[in-house]
Amino acid sequence: MTEPHQNLDLVTLEHPTRESWRWQLQNSVRSVADLRRALDLTAEELAGAERAERGGFPFAIPPYYLALCDKSDPSCPIRRQVVPHAAEGQPTQGDLRDPLGEEAHEVAPDLIQRYPDRALLLVSDRCAVYCRFCTRSRMVGAGGGPRSIARLEPAFAYLAAHPEVSDVIVSGGDPLIMATPRLAAILARLREIPSVQTLRLATRVPVVLPQRITAELVEALRPYHPIWVMTHFNHPNEVTPEASQACQRLADAGFPVMNHTVLLRGINDDAACLATLFRELVRNRVRPYYLLQADPVSGTGHLRTPLRTGVEIMRQLQGKLSGIALPKLIVDTPGGHGKVPVSPDFVIGSSPGATRFLAPNGVEVDYIDP
Ligand code: SF4
Repeated sequence: MTEPHQNLDLVTLEHPTRESWRWQLQNSVRSVADLRRALDLTAEELAGAERAERGGFPFAIPPYYLALCDKSDPSCPIRRQVVPHAAEGQPTQGDLRDPLGEEAHEVAPDLIQRYPDRALLLVSDRCAVYCRFCTRSRMVGAGGGPRSIARLEPAFAYLAAHPEVSDVIVSGGDPLIMATPRLAAILARLREIPSVQTLRLATRVPVVLPQRITAELVEALRPYHPIWVMTHFNHPNEVTPEASQACQRLADAGFPVMNHTVLLRGINDDAACLATLFRELVRNRVRPYYLLQADPVSGTGHLRTPLRTGVEIMRQLQGKLSGIALPKLIVDTPGGHGKVPVSPDFVIGSSPGATRFLAPNGVEVDYIDP
């Protein structure tokens, strides 16, 4: 496992507000020139960054998250999540521009409904970082910025007219990059719709920009509870003291925090690495919820694992981690047909009235039906 590395030339810059989230965003690395200054880029990374700068999927790395990247090791699991690579230009079998069929399921502008009781509201195209494996790379960072209330009114009208939708996931882009009053206004507007029971905020901010989780933010959002925070830690090196404090602040303010981890080749496709991550999350009152098979997004073939890798990891973790630390392995079926859990098969035989299991400790055990 690569140790977090300090890129001192960037993170020790004297600035009166360098601990503020806005300073972090304003000083993010977004150009090839700045990226070259910050990291010893390989030829493939440089080509990827130049491709991004020419109009491809953009990159952005706040100083805080950049400091977790190893300056000289291109295999660093943090660096690989955010630094472009030439392989992004290479097609892979199964690639899709919109792997979850979101455009086909858009029921109002910026509102996607793939399940009867849930909908996804895309309130911005901006993120603090642009994850190289992003499912929504077709639209995030593409322009437009945070959506106004006026622009979202057709989505609110749809939700009001469809009371079967009780759970709204506020996503984007990253909703926590928005100014607090703007986000609070969106949540307030959603709370005017009586059938909307649960709100969820889908955000990588606790991971990549934990400075954003201020006391003021959680106080501003609390009136709109119940709000669940769905965050996205992929590697134990991301669970820093700052990120821990952000998660604990959310939990203290009554936000259940759930985590999606995307399984990524050469980054976290290892049972020991994930066991460490999941234990650390539980310690910080974050529930490891899903281990997601990476979606087949165009340009991410180099980051995806075969499905059997995830199944084998789950086999190794079963019995080693407590139930609250063990996520479900999930495949979000291409085309937007919904998520399905995938599990290692511990059933090794059956006969009328009896099922034989291979227990995690290697013992074969029969369960006899009543
Ligand atoms: S923060 Fe989320 S939406 Fe933004 S690039 Fe990363 S995965 Fe995509």
